[in-house]
Amino acid sequence: MSAFPSLLLQGAEIRARGGFAAAQAAFLDPDPATVASLRAHLAAREAGVVAHFYMDPELQGVLYACDWPHIHISDSLVMADRAVEMARSGARTIIVLGVDFMSENVRAMLDASGFADVPVYRVAAAPIGCSLAESAESDAYAAYLRRAAATPRSLHVVYINTSLRTKAYAHALVPTITCTSSNVIQTVLQAAAQDPDLHVWFGPDTYMGRNLLALFRGLGELDDAAIARLHPAHDRASLLRLIERFHHFEQGTCVVHHMFGAAVVEQIERDYQDAHITAHLEVPGEMFALALRRRDAGRGVVGSTSDILGFITAKIREAAAASTPTELRFVLGTEAGMVTAIVHQIRGVLREHPQISVEIIFPAASEAIAITDDHALPVVPGVAGGEGCSTAGGCATCPYMKMNSLDALLDLLDRLDRPARELRVYEPRKYLDTIDGRTIAELGALPILHMRGLQRAGELPAALLADIRGRAPAHRLG
Ligand code: SF4
Repeated sequence: MSAFPSLLLQGAEIRARGGFAAAQAAFLDPDPATVASLRAHLAAREAGVVAHFYMDPELQGVLYACDWPHIHISDSLVMADRAVEMARSGARTIIVLGVDFMSENVRAMLDASGFADVPVYRVAAAPIGCSLAESAESDAYAAYLRRAAATPRSLHVVYINTSLRTKAYAHALVPTITCTSSNVIQTVLQAAAQDPDLHVWFGPDTYMGRNLLALFRGLGELDDAAIARLHPAHDRASLLRLIERFHHFEQGTCVVHHMFGAAVVEQIERDYQDAHITAHLEVPGEMFALALRRRDAGRGVVGSTSDILGFITAKIREAAAASTPTELRFVLGTEAGMVTAIVHQIRGVLREHPQISVEIIFPAASEAIAITDDHALPVVPGVAGGEGCSTAGGCATCPYMKMNSLDALLDLLDRLDRPARELRVYEPRKYLDTIDGRTIAELGALPILHMRGLQRAGELPAALLADIRGRAPAHRLG
């Protein structure tokens, strides 16, 4: 018996188990008039939209159905790249559907790519926060960075899910490079390969920090040949050095991924023995360990949202190639909004291969579930008395991301004709303070540009390496 809500897909049919899944499913086939209206609005303003995978399902459903060429849905790193491409191919305005650090990131990358004149807007007048980004603005994080600054040969590897201000102040104190969940492992391995004495200070996500350490410890138990396949410059000895010098922050949490804790994992182990487990790197250790075990058995993946999407798609393509009746179940170990992208990606294959049935399962947090009288669905997400999500957890949907809505997007598009001063509240945050004569925007973009440099060349940029080796600890404490 299945305990959690889920979506069942076979051929062209989509069925939902439970109200939460039904709400996700309801928006997969949006009203054509709404889609046409959005397209007309975007075309009239020549606007581009970059949206995160965790958007509200109604909004995502319409975005996927709209054939305007300047629409893109992805993880935060690719959002910025696509915004630059849109500007290059003529978009006159970029609208960011995500949280505030994403719009800041898009603004910084457009500025760095010569598109400072292309306006960027968010769809809410109020700030769109993020529990994780806010934890990097705490006194505890400042103290963590001061420890890093006092340690010779330190590199701060900061998760992209932080504000430009965090990145700027951090880089002023400790040489800093940003990372995403897709590239963090290679970033740390490569940095440690280039400087074996390096201390790596990862933050702010605590679970991701712990999971990385567990992963490096696991790698350290492999033989040298297996380690070299993951990174040619590493062996057991170099991994042990890295483990000794790897630090992570202990007080940074994403309220969404926090919900995949021990109780959820117990239930998955009990009721979903046959399922494939997908887990974001930000999940707690119990879920991470379970996904690793299933991965080692060929039935799991641990990584970024893009890795999860790629894994599910690959499994379905594999089943399609085999042409035999197959039932595939996937536990979705990340924000529930991902389901729209997943269904969009696999629907065509399922229509052509009705012998495959797929179930996407939404785990519900133990602290925010209601027990029902329904034998088929005894547990539903949300507290008793009504489904819902809160910053305390619940049904794995991000309350900040959900501040973006279709109505808000259409409303903003209507306002784009108004004088610029009326649109200022929709602009990404601007920082007026300077550090050693440099603006926050300029300094905060450097760790992102270092990450881009690493992605391009496969090694830490020479300027960053020189900074790590050249900064005296005394300066760092200043
Ligand atoms: S899911 Fe929400 S709270 Fe978690 S990191 Fe993303 S924006 Fe922040």
